[in-house]
Amino acid sequence: EYKEIATPSRTKEILKQHGFSFKKSLGQNFLTEPNILRKIVETAGIDTQTNVVEVGPGIGALTEQLAKNAAQVLAFEIDDRLIPVLEDTMSPYKNVTVVHNDVLKADLVGTTKEIFEQELPIKVVANLPYYITTPIMMHFLASDLDVEEMIVMMQKEVADRISAKPSTKAYGSLSIAVQYFMEASIAFIVPKTVFIPQPNVDSAIIKLTKREKPAVEVIDEKEFFKLTKASFQLRRKTLWNNLTHYYGKDEQTKEWLTKSLTEAEIDPSRRGETLSLEEFARLSNQLEKNRR
Ligand code: SAM
Repeated sequence: EYKEIATPSRTKEILKQHGFSFKKSLGQNFLTEPNILRKIVETAGIDTQTNVVEVGPGIGALTEQLAKNAAQVLAFEIDDRLIPVLEDTMSPYKNVTVVHNDVLKADLVGTTKEIFEQELPIKVVANLPYYITTPIMMHFLASDLDVEEMIVMMQKEVADRISAKPSTKAYGSLSIAVQYFMEASIAFIVPKTVFIPQPNVDSAIIKLTKREKPAVEVIDEKEFFKLTKASFQLRRKTLWNNLTHYYGKDEQTKEWLTKSLTEAEIDPSRRGETLSLEEFARLSNQLEKNRR
């Protein structure tokens, strides 16, 4: 009788058989609840017309469920001790390729081109290593890889920040960096009790769907992201305080800022966290037009 990898008894068996010990520094918290894994695959809508990129397969708990549904699965794993384990646990699944590499150093476009045999929509599905959640998200967003959807598990607190709306406590430059490219929503919450070892916090599955085009039109993307970052630097302060803190307090700069804020119809006494993506885009575009 076949037991899924994610069942607690099979997980323990695999760990014991390979003498595996968890490395906290690599964010190793393995899922041991097959129902949650099935729910992730369902939320992601994985079928035989989808190629999947996974980050951090661990011993293959999620990889197995993906392999059963997807066309192909490409999984990046940094821990060399897990490579022989995965060779063993993934042997029944011919559509899985494990690449031993730090995902942050991986050439995503090159590797997917090499591994995926058919040109199908690509989805990223992962239970992310929590110590580098944001860098991994940024690595995918900044790459030229055409990702249709990301269905990823992370600390609930980070998921809240990514999906936050203006004027909420969680809203910040991360919300904007992600929502500029993707539509974000929290799919469901996962209690910390279904992992071994148990993390300190609850997790959430976030679903990100790529927009046909960015949420707002900006003249200069780099300057737009600089502006949003600058606006959240001093959280308790006004937009004006933040902007002069970042761009400078000399008369010429102040004139430039005042003119642009007026033309964008944004009150400088507001807090940065009250501005919507549209308002940040309007301000960024005025700043570009009025460049000194
Ligand atoms: N997918 C498995 C599961 O759900 O049970 C394991 C998830 S565990 C939270 C995170 C995994 O990411 C670990 O296997 C860890 O070794 C791996 N990992 C950590 N840093 C990584 C990196 N920079 N690149 C690729 N994998 C990484």
